[in-house]
Amino acid sequence: MNMESVLRMNPGHEPNSYARNSTHQRNVMFKAMPIVKERVRALYRKALFPNHFAVAGLGCASGSNSLLAISWIIEAISGLCSQTGRSLPEVLVFLKDLPGNDFNSVFSSLPSFYENLKEKNRVESNCYVSAMPGSFYGRLFPSRSLHFVHSSYSVHWLSQVPELPEQNKGSIYMASTSPSSVFQAYMKQFQKDLTNLLSSRAEEIIPGGEMVLILIGRSIPDPTSEDCCLLLWWLSRSLVEMADGGLVEAADIDSFNLPVYMPYKQEVTDVVEGEGSFTINRLETFEVNWDPFYHEDEDDENCTFDKFKSGQNVADCIRSVTEPILRSHFGDGLVMENVFKRYVRLVGEHLEVEKTKGM
Ligand code: SAH
Repeated sequence: MNMESVLRMNPGHEPNSYARNSTHQRNVMFKAMPIVKERVRALYRKALFPNHFAVAGLGCASGSNSLLAISWIIEAISGLCSQTGRSLPEVLVFLKDLPGNDFNSVFSSLPSFYENLKEKNRVESNCYVSAMPGSFYGRLFPSRSLHFVHSSYSVHWLSQVPELPEQNKGSIYMASTSPSSVFQAYMKQFQKDLTNLLSSRAEEIIPGGEMVLILIGRSIPDPTSEDCCLLLWWLSRSLVEMADGGLVEAADIDSFNLPVYMPYKQEVTDVVEGEGSFTINRLETFEVNWDPFYHEDEDDENCTFDKFKSGQNVADCIRSVTEPILRSHFGDGLVMENVFKRYVRLVGEHLEVEKTKGM
């Protein structure tokens, strides 16, 4: 499978698009917002208020999340400039994603993005956004050209499906039923990919520059940890149900694996230390609900648990992310309708027993 040609989020603004179903990822970005702003302020000061500030967003996808962190970065710089009586620097923004990404949607959102910046920061923002396709696992930018790199919910995607010495039968990701060689192969691929990402960015970031990476992980070293594997396990079960009913081939499930890996935090630390170009200032973990619209602490009657609604909310998100790659292997829209109908039921039933959070 050539990842660059099949990995993308659902494009456009249709009901199944990423743009309409990425509230979960947005919630995650908001959790990390204070850190992003704090690091940008610290870096801008440390770099002695340069006249231009270059930022890269890795894995921008499409929809309102694509430029959200960029607007926070500019807000942070703008706040600091007004406190210290300086004018805003030119902010150069480079958005990156794979070639199949819906860059057109990102471009068409730029006029309103610039307009909002002007309104919020009450000055011409001097912000120049460009976007170009390419994998963040290789070189993307000239040497020493970037001050700050941001990436949210992207680096857990691998550059390729790991080569598995044994088949991962009946599952499309690591699961408690997978042979241990499957876990090893996934972990190795993650180590290799993250190492490549770090060494490429190390060439591109100015000395003293910084990077904030936000990715899905698991809470415990056990690679079958429920918080990351179960979501995809229910997707495997939906496909297996279809195979039982003769609607997809069981062999097609056995031969398909998703190119994602959700590391335990120590695994990330080990790769960063092993690669050696970067030091970790902060490594934080937090939990988010699978269902982005369910807030259990809120005394809000709209948030009473409804297994169908919660199952649907989770399925909408997962569909917008996995449909293109699943389609490339399992076929057309009808198969997808069927898979995700089952997925709504299975996830809803699971959440009824256990309101799962992921990291
Ligand atoms: N940052 C956005 C989008 C996350 S979706 C948000 O938080 O909502 C993950 C994105 O990463 C997808 O658009 C996917 O195409 C992109 N991606 C995955 N692997 C990539 C790679 N190797 N190089 C560039 N982009 C990649």
